[in-house]
Amino acid sequence: MIPFTYERATDEAAAARAAAGNSNTKFIAGGTNLLDLMKLQIEKPQHLIDITHLPLNRIEPTEQGGLRIGAMVRNSDLAADTRIRRDYAVLSRALLAGASGQLRNMATTGGNLLQRTRCYYFYTPGLPCNKRDPGSGCSALLGFNRMHAIVGASDQCIAVHPSDMAVAMRVLDAQIETMNGEGKRRVIPIADFYRLPGNTPHLENNLQAGELITSVALPPPVRGVHLYRKVRDRASYAFALVSVAAVIERSGDQINSARLAFGGLAPQPWRVPAAEQALHEAPGTAVSADRAADAVLAGATGHGHNNFKIDLTRRTLQAVLAASQRA
Ligand code: SF4
Repeated sequence: MIPFTYERATDEAAAARAAAGNSNTKFIAGGTNLLDLMKLQIEKPQHLIDITHLPLNRIEPTEQGGLRIGAMVRNSDLAADTRIRRDYAVLSRALLAGASGQLRNMATTGGNLLQRTRCYYFYTPGLPCNKRDPGSGCSALLGFNRMHAIVGASDQCIAVHPSDMAVAMRVLDAQIETMNGEGKRRVIPIADFYRLPGNTPHLENNLQAGELITSVALPPPVRGVHLYRKVRDRASYAFALVSVAAVIERSGDQINSARLAFGGLAPQPWRVPAAEQALHEAPGTAVSADRAADAVLAGATGHGHNNFKIDLTRRTLQAVLAASQRA
């Protein structure tokens, strides 16, 4: 590990100010991803600002009827919160599908949003990777790309975003609340938070330098059956090949409203309004699942080892719709 300096933040504004003043600074909270990246010398911060003692570990009601989740709320605490389990079950289920119990005890809400891809080549210094070393190339394009993206990628990077939590937050239209180095707060809808790789795959989100995530606000609860289905290579502690977060309200065969977001397919949680509309308009479950999958997979491209994700996405969506009918 490369030497670095360390400070423990005592308030949000000071933390953001300190980070904005030194471009080679990182915030550290649970450290479940950052420490691994530092040991591999993929992340090389000169300075760490420890935010674990900031008062950002509460879940509180908002004036709008939703919930505000502090950035330091641990994934296990968030999944177990009775309000989350009752009113935002898709989020609780997605959290419990992610990582191991030990990791969920450490990982935080803010950190989960910012975790980096698990592309094998990104974690292998010495092999070309545009995300790690811009301009060096993408080893995954012609390499082993079983985990990689089929939509939203570019010829510079085909990595997927690994978070389960973010997929559920996308379906719930979460709002990410931040503070910058000048002490100004802003709200970023999760739909606008992540960037597609294009020609700059090393830029993954729209945070400014030093901008600190302070909380995530959930809008008022969405009616319907909340489901999170994750398909992975083993039953625990594996990243999604395909996952679906769904909130579906139906009367028998008729779907009155549907929200869908997909993980494992794209460099960001993947939500396609046309797919939700197709579910609402089509007459039966099988037909609507096909039309919705067509919309989700518009322009989908496999890269060899991950071609199976195209069919797997269809089947996973069908399974989710069938489950919503049984619920
Ligand atoms: Fe790097 Fe992205 Fe290519 Fe993986 S897919 S090797 S992260 S550029």
